[in-house]
Amino acid sequence: MTIQIRIERTTAPKPRPQASELGFGKYFTDHMFIVDYAEGKGWHDARIVPYQPITLDPAAKVFHYGQTIFEGLKAYRTETGQIALFRPDMNMKRLNRSNDRMSIPAIEEELGLEALRQLVLIDKDWIPDAPETSLYVRPFVIATEAALGVSPSKQYQFIIIMSPVGSYYAEGIKPVSIYVESEYVRAVAGGVGHVKTAGNYAAGLKAQEGATEQGCAQVLWLDGVHRKYVEEVGSMNVFFRLGNKIVTPALTGSLLSGITRDSVIHLLRHWGLEVEERLISIDEVTQAQKDGSLKEMFGTGTAAVISPVGSLYWQGEKLTIGDGSTGELTLRVYETMTGIQTGRIEDPFGWRVALD
Ligand SMILES: *Cc1c(COP(=O)(O)O)cnc(C)c1O
Repeated sequence: MTIQIRIERTTAPKPRPQASELGFGKYFTDHMFIVDYAEGKGWHDARIVPYQPITLDPAAKVFHYGQTIFEGLKAYRTETGQIALFRPDMNMKRLNRSNDRMSIPAIEEELGLEALRQLVLIDKDWIPDAPETSLYVRPFVIATEAALGVSPSKQYQFIIIMSPVGSYYAEGIKPVSIYVESEYVRAVAGGVGHVKTAGNYAAGLKAQEGATEQGCAQVLWLDGVHRKYVEEVGSMNVFFRLGNKIVTPALTGSLLSGITRDSVIHLLRHWGLEVEERLISIDEVTQAQKDGSLKEMFGTGTAAVISPVGSLYWQGEKLTIGDGSTGELTLRVYETMTGIQTGRIEDPFGWRVALD
């Protein structure tokens, strides 16, 4: 298949923000990618155009029934000046699994990867080069057909936008406090918890507000059926070091299959460590905290890569993990993952994909 992407360059490039003011997802680059879908015609008219608002009919199905999915990955400028993505094929595969669950037509993986490559290269000067900064890439699909019947849309747009993001840990990697949520649940197996679809995140905002009020950075979600098994931390997967074993919740259908999660499991096993993917209850976690076998806990996701957990709030109690600081394994995983992503260290897994 030859992939044709039409290119219309901006005539009015925007000023670049300072590295210090980047934050997360506040600034957007000069260009965006769009491809349309129409029933009978398939995906067509792939193009890179100046970053701009899109116009949709108020009846577009995405507004009413949330037929939409997204992805998130990062482009890095390596120490040798190369531009690289981290396992982008995994994002395209997950995007199509999400599409399938949300009754959205599949997008050829090669088209998605070529769109990513060309878009990142066109806006490569937007990739910040200060340590630990990157260009966050947000592909997403929306149902654009103007019709209020509850049925799969006959029209879609697949769009990619990009945002330079600052260092997640401006003052060094730092543990966060986590609120164990007992009132709200995020998802149940059979639903869409394993899909990066908008509604999951809107549904989580209320719990996040509660966590913030308690002085916590994120929510720890428990499963929706038994209200007992640990699922995820905010929008990150979660790992526990129990003695010398590492445990992470199994992919039961209600949690997201993180690419960082998968990479961390590979890495830990590569180091000869024992990793268990299984159910882990909040009781097991609190018991391990009390008897001292819970040594470390961390979240994994594209944005923060690794987020150490310093304490858990559960049933009015604050439980400190280890000595409350970033654990030794957590730090090693963080350094290695970011090292592979940015080319600081060798990549034995072939995860870093150079674009130029
Ligand atoms: C995106 C996401 C993750 C992390 O996935 P990565 O591929 O590692 O970025 C975990 N949980 C949820 C709910 C997510 O949306």
